[in-house]
This record gives sequence, structure tokens and C-alpha cells, in this order.
Amino acid sequence: MSQYDVIVIGSGPGGYVAAIHAAQSGLKTAIVEREPTKRLGGTCLLRGCIPTKAMLHTADLLWDMQRSEEFGIPSPGPVAVDMDMMSEYRARVVAKNANGVGFLMKKNGVDVHFGHGRLAGRGHVTVEGEDGTTTLEAKHVVLATGSACRQLPFLPVHERIIDSDYLLSTTTMPEHLVVLGAGAVGSEFASVFARYGAKVTLIERADRILPLEDAEVSAEVEKVFKRKQKINVLTSVELKSTEPHDGGVTLQIERNGKAQTIEASHVLVAIGRRPVTDDVGLAESGVEVDERGFVKVDGYMRTSADWVYAIGDIVQTPWLAHVASKEGILAVDHLRGADAHPINYGHVPNCTYCSPEVASVGLTEAAAREAGHDVRTGTFPFSANGKAGILGKQEGFVKIVADAQYGELLGMHIVGPKATELITEATVALELESTVDEILHTIHPHPTVAEAVGEAAHAVFGETLHA
Ligand code: FAD
Repeated sequence: MSQYDVIVIGSGPGGYVAAIHAAQSGLKTAIVEREPTKRLGGTCLLRGCIPTKAMLHTADLLWDMQRSEEFGIPSPGPVAVDMDMMSEYRARVVAKNANGVGFLMKKNGVDVHFGHGRLAGRGHVTVEGEDGTTTLEAKHVVLATGSACRQLPFLPVHERIIDSDYLLSTTTMPEHLVVLGAGAVGSEFASVFARYGAKVTLIERADRILPLEDAEVSAEVEKVFKRKQKINVLTSVELKSTEPHDGGVTLQIERNGKAQTIEASHVLVAIGRRPVTDDVGLAESGVEVDERGFVKVDGYMRTSADWVYAIGDIVQTPWLAHVASKEGILAVDHLRGADAHPINYGHVPNCTYCSPEVASVGLTEAAAREAGHDVRTGTFPFSANGKAGILGKQEGFVKIVADAQYGELLGMHIVGPKATELITEATVALELESTVDEILHTIHPHPTVAEAVGEAAHAVFGETLHA
């Protein structure tokens, strides 16, 4: 029987990072993955972050090519996405990343076992693979089995009612895509297919899209979606029924007390994910879950069974790849007795890679007020930023939320060009407990979109230089 210090079950960004960190810390490590194609990387790499961002990149390029004359390049004539070619590019990107994870396992001496992993009582994991079931032994197990698309019980997946897994595995170009759910995943797909040339309707139950973001950010994205990408955005919607038929799906919705019928060629269900915690031997090994199926953990990712840790989408923390990875490192540091610090989830950056990009960290204005802060905000529009003008991307703004009394940075909210890169400055500033004054005194290079961050800091004190 193979014996390990650590066995990681699941090779997503939580699991594979935990395995690398364990191996680099001198622990004998194995990883178990049940993916039928024998590729590592999990949802993020195979069916999430990476393929969606490839599709978004194609949409960004197409958008720029269609406006090439604005940048001094004569129009090459009508340009359009070729779904087969896009799909090949997307598959190439995924394959390169998945092979990269395989290489990292080899390089770091992590044993890879393909098959379905289950906890089998203290210190034991069974792996049900192609050649039967083997039992492995370990001092500790890190569970990182991730999540799967959530479905509505009255809306089973069908060839016309689809989820993100389906959209990322086909070359389907919907004629009229109705997206149910305007969170990050729904908004990204809406922005992809609208720019690919499909008719898109984005439906959200809350009263605004991207409902977890600052209200001003939601309003700006909705404005651009409607005006520039011609997305039909419908908020405060109650879905009454869906009727699939040969040519598509008929949806009945209610909005502001009025009934409405929508004819879609395809309906994308983007209403969230569910943790994959069934059939991994939790109950048999004394690992407790909550009523929604999430594994219960303490601040060090330790479950109710002291030899088992749980990380990533199976625990009740933000469903993000970078959170899963950080939790993997924390779990390994704790189990090996190293200096381990619980994660401050208030400092996790959120990114949505639609156009315009959205990124935020810390408190929204509303949350800061609710928390009792005397709030001061400062906003700087990209319409007044030189680099944004060069890029031809002048929608959006940087908004800083600060505490008026001490000038402490509480949150930053960015909508506009390169927002998902810019947010790192705010993340570091929050981590260092910076004041807005310190951001203001930081020299931002010119010409960059990052100058808008410095200008937003000026705006907190009521005086921007360029707006
Ligand atoms: P996962 O990545 O889900 O990996 C779990 C792995 O465990 C899988 O490979 C699975 O096969 C394996 N597994 C499950 N059960 C077993 C078992 N019993 N035995 C062996 N193996 C098992 N996050 C971001 O931060 N940025 C983004 O841009 C982003 N975009 C996304 C886009 C989409 C469309 C989706 C769906 C998600 C996106 N996410 C994004 C979320 C991100 O993908 C997840 O938060 C992240 O993948 C969670 O990592 P994980 O390691 O917990 O699990």
C-alpha cells in the first residue's frame, strides 16, 4: 500500500496548488483526479476561468477589428468570429495549461492517481480507477473536489437549455441566447455572445446586474451592455415557466407586475454552482457538512475530522480560483505545523472579465455605511484618462470608498479598461492597511490607465487634476 504524508483529492486550482506546496515543503504527496480525459486543472482550467477568458479575448479582438479605422487601419471588410476556429484556439489554450499542471506535478515529485477518490476511514483513501480500486494511506488528506453547475429542478438541461459546461464544449452560435443570472459567469457569456453577433437577453432576479458589486458599477455595466452591445438587460424578473420546443425555448416571465413572453433559441442557466461533496466518503470519515452540502471548516481549513482539510468551492468561502489556491497553501501550512495565518476574506479581489471589465476589493459604499463608517468616496472617470483614450475604451471609472475620519481605504471598485489588472494595487493597499493619502502620494506612471487610481484618490479629497 502506497503511503503518503498528504493526499489531495481533486486537481483544480485548490488541489494542485496544495499538492505543489506540500511537495515543495518536503512532504510525500499524491493527487487524485477523476477527470475522464485524464487532464489536471479542474473546473477553472478545463471548464471555467481559462476557456471563458479565451472566448472573451476573441470577443475583445473582434470588437477592436470591427473598429480598426478608429486606430488608423483601413477596414479589412466584414470580420466575424469563426466558431470552429475559436473553439480550436480555446482548446489549445486549455491543453497548454492542463499539460503545464501535469508537468508541475512531475517536476515537484507529486504522484498522480487517476480515478474517483473517497475517504475510507482514518488515514485511508480509495481510488476507483480503470484498473480497479486501490487503497492509499496518508497522514493527512486535503479535499478539493470543487463544484458543478447548479440546475433548477424545473429546468433540466436539454439541448436548448444549457449550462456553462455545454457552452464551453461546443461551437454552438446561438441565434438568441437568453442568459438566466447576471452574476460574473452570466455577464461574461452575455458579453461574449453579444459581441460575437448573437442576439442576447440577460435576465436577473435582483434589481440590478452584478448584484454583489457596488451599485454604481452595476449601473455603468448595464448602460454599456445596453447601448454598445445591444444586450437586452431585464432585472427584477421572476421566471414563470420555460417550454422547450423544436426551434428553441419559450419563456414566460413577470417583471414589475407585467407578464412577458420571450422566444429564445437557447437558454443558458447561470444561477450558480453546487459543491461536489456527495460520494467522497464524508459521513463514513466523520467529516461534517452544512445543510447546503458545504464542508464545515475552521479558520485553517480543518474539518471536523482532524486529519482531513477541505478547500476551494466545497467550503462556504468565495467561489474563486485564487481563493481555492490560497486555502490550499493555508491547509498545507497548518497540517505541516508551519506558521499559518487564517485568510482575511474581506481582502479577496473579485473580477468579472466582461466588457467593460469589472473588479473590486473591500467594502462597497453601501456595505461601508451599513458597517457604521463615516464614508467618503472619490470617483475618477476613464473618459478623462489619456491611456484609456488611446485604447478607445473610455467607459467606466475608478471609485474609492474610504473612512472619512482616518482616511483609511475601505474598498476600491473599478469598471473599465484593464480593471482586473488594476485591482491588485488596491488589494495590496488594503492588505497594508493603507490610507487614501498614501495612494495619492504613490507615483503612477504616465500614460497608464493606473493613473485613474491615483486620480480617484485625489477625488476623495475633492480635487482631481484631470477631470
Ligand atoms: P475545481 O476547480 O472544481 O476542481 C475540482 C476537481 O476535483 C475537478 O477536477 C474534479 O474532477 C475533481 N474531483 C471531484 N470529485 C472527485 C473525486 N471524488 N475524486 C477525484 N477527483 C474528484 N474563478 C476565478 O477566480 N476567476 C474566473 O475568471 C472564473 N471564471 C469561471 C468561469 C466559469 C464558467 C466557471 C464555472 C467558474 C469560474 N471560476 C472563476 C470559478 C473557479 O473555476 C472555481 O472557483 C475554482 O475552479 C474552484 O477550484 P477548486 O480547486 O475548489 O475545484
